[in-house]
Amino acid sequence: MGAETELVQTHPHPVALHVISRPQPLRDALLTWYDQVHALRGMPWRKPYNHAWDIEQKAQRAYEVWVSEIMLQQTQVATVIPYYNKWMDRFPTIRDLAASDIDTVNGLWKGLGYYSRAARLLNGAKKAVEEFDGRLPDNAKDMENKVPGIGRYSAGAICSIAYNERVPVLDGNVHRLLSRVLALHAPPKAKQTLDVLWAGASAFVPDADRPGDVNQALIELGSTVCKVREPSCGVCPLQQWCAAYERQEAHGQGKEDEGTNYATSNSGNQRQNVSDIEELCTLCEPLPVGSRVSAYPMKAEKKKAREELDIVNVIEWRKNASGARWFLLVRRPEGGLLAGLHEFPTAQNVPVTTSPTAQITIADTLLSALLACPPPTRSSRSAAPSDSSSQASRRRPAKPSPGTRDVPHAGGHGLQVVKIVPAGDVLHVFSHIRKTYRVQWVLLEGGADGSEPPSLVERPDLAFEELAAAKPKTVKGKSSRKDGSTSSEKARGTSPTSPPQGQTTQWVPLDAVADANIGTGVVKIWRQVRALWADGEKDEVADDNGHDA
Ligand code: SF4
Repeated sequence: MGAETELVQTHPHPVALHVISRPQPLRDALLTWYDQVHALRGMPWRKPYNHAWDIEQKAQRAYEVWVSEIMLQQTQVATVIPYYNKWMDRFPTIRDLAASDIDTVNGLWKGLGYYSRAARLLNGAKKAVEEFDGRLPDNAKDMENKVPGIGRYSAGAICSIAYNERVPVLDGNVHRLLSRVLALHAPPKAKQTLDVLWAGASAFVPDADRPGDVNQALIELGSTVCKVREPSCGVCPLQQWCAAYERQEAHGQGKEDEGTNYATSNSGNQRQNVSDIEELCTLCEPLPVGSRVSAYPMKAEKKKAREELDIVNVIEWRKNASGARWFLLVRRPEGGLLAGLHEFPTAQNVPVTTSPTAQITIADTLLSALLACPPPTRSSRSAAPSDSSSQASRRRPAKPSPGTRDVPHAGGHGLQVVKIVPAGDVLHVFSHIRKTYRVQWVLLEGGADGSEPPSLVERPDLAFEELAAAKPKTVKGKSSRKDGSTSSEKARGTSPTSPPQGQTTQWVPLDAVADANIGTGVVKIWRQVRALWADGEKDEVADDNGHDA
């Protein structure tokens, strides 16, 4: 037998170890602790429940708790507080929110990340006003089933806190806390594991006078005491009932070889007295002997995020070299990832082998789709007279990098692509995707009578899949369209390659780009392009002084 195997703990234990059968003393200790700490972190959404509230006041509380719960998903309390206060100033009631729009909501959300949460709040508010007379349902079952974006956890939190309903919560904090109290070392996302933990959370609330406070106490304890790393067991109100702590201490006192008699141990006191071999736990996976409490819950196997490459085109237009600078932004559709946010025109999820030449083709295709009178494409530019090249080379806001393609040629209406400059890669990690944004700066000049930027197609039909392939598609026996759909498919909107509908475009002045409704990834892209210009400007100064760039 190898050393590694000897380290594995194999003590069998009863299923009852993972059941809370006498919750009263745990709940009392929990609430005593919570009453002392509940105000310490200054959360504006945390208010005591008042039995005298009428139905409107309860519904208002439900709205406030809902906003806070959605904001707190994947975000720290300290970060959320100022956003919550700003939000409630702007949308004090659910009706105020429902009357708003995705742009305003995204504007308030800017910097908080995971923008789909903002869209969910807006959609949920609209539904509550349209279908429930402006009040979120007063029970967790209806709330979970009828309000988009509210799951079992949020419904439990909102209904227990605002409506005093005796329903449990199980967020990440409570999951960790109960995994330790119950010494449950099982695949953390497996249905059986979650069933055990939901049952544990449920044990706290059936006869609780203050179910909302019980739930908030569990969340607070998990968040501030039973932390992921270095939990503060010394000050934990549940320490005497915590099976993980008991195991850890037993090992420290050299009792490990005896095993723990869970039917009679301290932690076992709150559980059923079960010794029948039939009821041994089959859920837990072995743990190394001497594991500390932080070994619980069992670590999840991390799914590898999928890798994607997008080609991002920061398209700039100016009348001439000294003219005002404008940038093209596309507004994403109101549904799906980053709903309603603005971004630079992008070809999404292209093959990683996309060549620099294909990137130019992508820029051409996008310009053709976005501009009412686009500049000539590469093929026509390559036939352009050479004298226009020397003209363009004098107009340089930045020194071209080695990969720069100077591609000047004026079309019949005078609009020209002066250059396309690679600006490097930006990595942005979503929860399930690692995006590499390959950025190129596309500079346009001319083509307008006055100082206004070129006219845009009002609702461009950006065929992203075609852009990814960077080649036209044909459909045998039918007339093919730019996005590969047939006329009849297009008319029905059923083309398999149709992009999300509802995109709109606009030119934005240089100074206004950073203030537009752009997400964190686009902010990074914008910084990178600006850095490119800063480098270019420095190089140009070096050139002017006669030094090597
Ligand atoms: Fe968590 Fe320690 Fe308390 Fe157990 S005793 S619940 S491990 S903080």
